[in-house]
Amino acid sequence: MRTQRQVVDYSLRKRAVLRELLAGRVGTYDVCDASPYLKNAARFHGEPTDERCPICRSENLTHVHYIYGDELRQSAGQARTLAELPMLAMTVREFQVFVVEVCLGCDWNHLVEQYLLGRDGLTGSPEGGPDQDAVGGAAATGNGAGGRRRREAQR
Ligand SMILES: [Zn+2]
Repeated sequence: MRTQRQVVDYSLRKRAVLRELLAGRVGTYDVCDASPYLKNAARFHGEPTDERCPICRSENLTHVHYIYGDELRQSAGQARTLAELPMLAMTVREFQVFVVEVCLGCDWNHLVEQYLLGRDGLTGSPEGGPDQDAVGGAAATGNGAGGRRRREAQR
């Protein structure tokens, strides 16, 4: 998408979680915890992918796009289909997109990436963080809260 900027890729963190899982330091119960909201969002607004679930390997992952930003008002925190985002990016100055991968088979979920969209070129920085509850079990903050939560879960 043309106005996509400030992209943060979470694939390294995802690999770290999978390593922890392989090593037995976290259980599948800890990482396969998609909330009913997240799964509904995946069913109704999700983008199917060709990527196999790294946990159960029987389902393909679905990407859910959550949008955040003051200008979105009551839409903030909602899931949108990928097709809806370019239109939104034309009408809103700036909003944050969080992409979460979900497996509808085993409830695996993880943050894939985040980025900014909107008419507003390349100025300013995003204000405020995402509402974690709205993203369910997805470790959806940019400052390591997800990793912290995982570590706490091991104790
Ligand atoms: Zn799965």
